[in-house]
Amino acid sequence: MFEKILIANRGEIAVRVIKTCRRLGVKTVIVYSDADAASMAVEMADEAVHIGASAASESYLDADKIIDAVRQTGAQAVHPGFGFLSENPEFARRLEKEKIAFIGPNAHAIEAMGDKISSKKLAAEAGVSTVPGHMGLIDDTAQAIKISAEIGYPVMIKASAGGGGKGIRVAYSDADVEDGYRAVKAEAQNAFGDDRIFIEKFILEPRHIEIQVMGDKHGNCVYLFERECSIQRRNQKVIEEAPSPLLDAQTRKKMGEQAVALSKAVNYDSAGTVEFVVSGKDKGFYFLEMNTRLQVEHPVTEMITGVDLVEQMLRSAYGEKLSIKQDDLKIKGWAIESRVYAEDPYRNFLPSIGRLKRFYPPLEGKLGAGTVRMDSGVREGDEISMFYDPMIAKLVTHGKDRDTALDTQAAALDRFHIEGIQDNIPFVAAVMDEARFRSGNITTAYIKDEFPDGFSGVEATTAQEAYLVSAALYAHALRARRAGEAQAGNAGDWFQTDWVVILGGKQYPVYFELGKGEAFLKLGKSKHTLVTAWVPGNNLFEGTLDGAAFAVSFHQKKNGLHIRHRGVAKPVTVCSPRLAELYARLPEKEAADMSKLIISPMPGLVVSMDVALGQEVKAGEGVCVVEAMKMQNIIRAEADGKVKTINVDAGSPVAADEIMVEFE
Ligand code: ADP
Ligand code: ADP
Ligand code: MG
Repeated sequence: MFEKILIANRGEIAVRVIKTCRRLGVKTVIVYSDADAASMAVEMADEAVHIGASAASESYLDADKIIDAVRQTGAQAVHPGFGFLSENPEFARRLEKEKIAFIGPNAHAIEAMGDKISSKKLAAEAGVSTVPGHMGLIDDTAQAIKISAEIGYPVMIKASAGGGGKGIRVAYSDADVEDGYRAVKAEAQNAFGDDRIFIEKFILEPRHIEIQVMGDKHGNCVYLFERECSIQRRNQKVIEEAPSPLLDAQTRKKMGEQAVALSKAVNYDSAGTVEFVVSGKDKGFYFLEMNTRLQVEHPVTEMITGVDLVEQMLRSAYGEKLSIKQDDLKIKGWAIESRVYAEDPYRNFLPSIGRLKRFYPPLEGKLGAGTVRMDSGVREGDEISMFYDPMIAKLVTHGKDRDTALDTQAAALDRFHIEGIQDNIPFVAAVMDEARFRSGNITTAYIKDEFPDGFSGVEATTAQEAYLVSAALYAHALRARRAGEAQAGNAGDWFQTDWVVILGGKQYPVYFELGKGEAFLKLGKSKHTLVTAWVPGNNLFEGTLDGAAFAVSFHQKKNGLHIRHRGVAKPVTVCSPRLAELYARLPEKEAADMSKLIISPMPGLVVSMDVALGQEVKAGEGVCVVEAMKMQNIIRAEADGKVKTINVDAGSPVAADEIMVEFE
């Protein structure tokens, strides 16, 4: 085995690779940018080499600097993680020339699969089922319309060099093709410097299901079953699971064997993923693309197969023969992953940056009937910057079946506490409890279908109301007792009185008796017994209500205390009935009218300013584009108006809350 390897990546995937290396006794070198100087990966690696400024182009994407770091430290191999240089054939070739092993596939395989058109052709030749469509390049709008009509609507217009959800449009009519063709061409030219376009049929009720493969340098290759990744926003995966609720054993085997056939056709010799779009209508499956790297969602496969994919990648790069046989592989239970993003689910998932004031992930190991695994690369106190991907952690749970895995995931999300930035936990937690997701009847349009107006939180069920109210009261009463306020004429240790809990503006009158580690309450007509070991200062509140285990968390925000459970997140106050009456009579404060201002929701770079002075703009129209965390965000007008001032230009940096445009 290698003695020392270098990891050309950052964040959770760098930490993930270090964990396996430690277990195998392989020394690690991490490279880091300015922004990552104090990162968890830097702390955990055996050696660390600073390679440049925070912008990825000056650090993680700079092959020269990475190769220098390899020479300087005597590392024998490079693990590229995902993103950055992981799918760059020139980088793999340069390492080969320098006699440094690349912990990934051979450069030829990366190249052959790097382009959507050529990989689709290769797949068809290898007997893999591909999406019906035009296999060649499209030269102009007229040809695009002609070919789309031949294929039959709806169609998908795609950039051959596309990736990460960029350069894709669905078209339902000639007019859509006309717009879509131009948009994809421009986007592809911008993002990839390559505007080659092709068109294929849009598969109805599409589900994204992908096959994990693992090959070696001796011609062996196996498939490690599938992952379903249909829950996506902006074509980016948010929740993934293995196996897929859709596939039967026969379809699984066919897809697996086709994925292996394609891998063998390019002498694939590492971990890779063959992506398919599968029709929910008839389980017809069609090759989309092959990702020649470790995938973000690889942990769900590891959980159901017991195989450490990073270890297998190291072994194969070292030249070992694959020790896993296809027949030995079995699916054990069910695994689910939530990607925890630094983003605001209530504001169209806009990236959110700042310092992680609190970061308590759930504990790894047993939780209820399932198991928890946490893959994260951040700690409390770390800064989430605008330079990189907004994913901060992956929460993975495993159980004997899908419901157990989902229940465990939901329970673990309740125990995940983050403060300082916005996070998408309430959103993914809401999905875990949502009926259609639970049924497994999902498509890639799931988020759009179920949350057409965006996410605005979910209402608590009666059981959840009781959890929230009892936790809030217990915490309040304990603090009150500590403060010595509790001196009603009570017998013994019991503290009994009437309170009102105000949850998101709604009042819940409660009769409450506080004991030691327990409490009794009457909420409306129902009586409950709460048992808990909670002590003041803890953001996480765990307990049982009438014997049922639950967890809620308290978040200190600018406008007071908030409480969270599943998809419910609300401001909370506890007060006396007299005060509650006063509150109820207070007029609601009117929000300031901000519709005349276009404000940058985050620090970033203005990519384009799409309005001019004096221009009339309609509500919903894009005013400008701000890029942060690798994502381009179209900032839209909230109301109709005429542009009065423009304070920033394309190319200029903006701060959060900076006024970019003002309407008359
Ligand atoms: P997956 O199927 O594993 O989700 P993605 O295409 O979403 O694959 O990308 C995997 C990772 O690589 C993500 O963290 C993504 O943000 C990152 N990534 C994708 N494209 C790029 C790119 N062009 N440059 C840098 N990172 C990228
Ligand atoms: P990327 O390189 O950006 O990951 P993909 O080709 O993998 O691009 O497509 C991204 C997503 O778009 C897929 O996960 C799938 O949900 C959807 N998609 C792609 N092609 C089709 C198609 N022909 N029909 C329906 N959905 C598709
Ligand atoms: Mg893809």
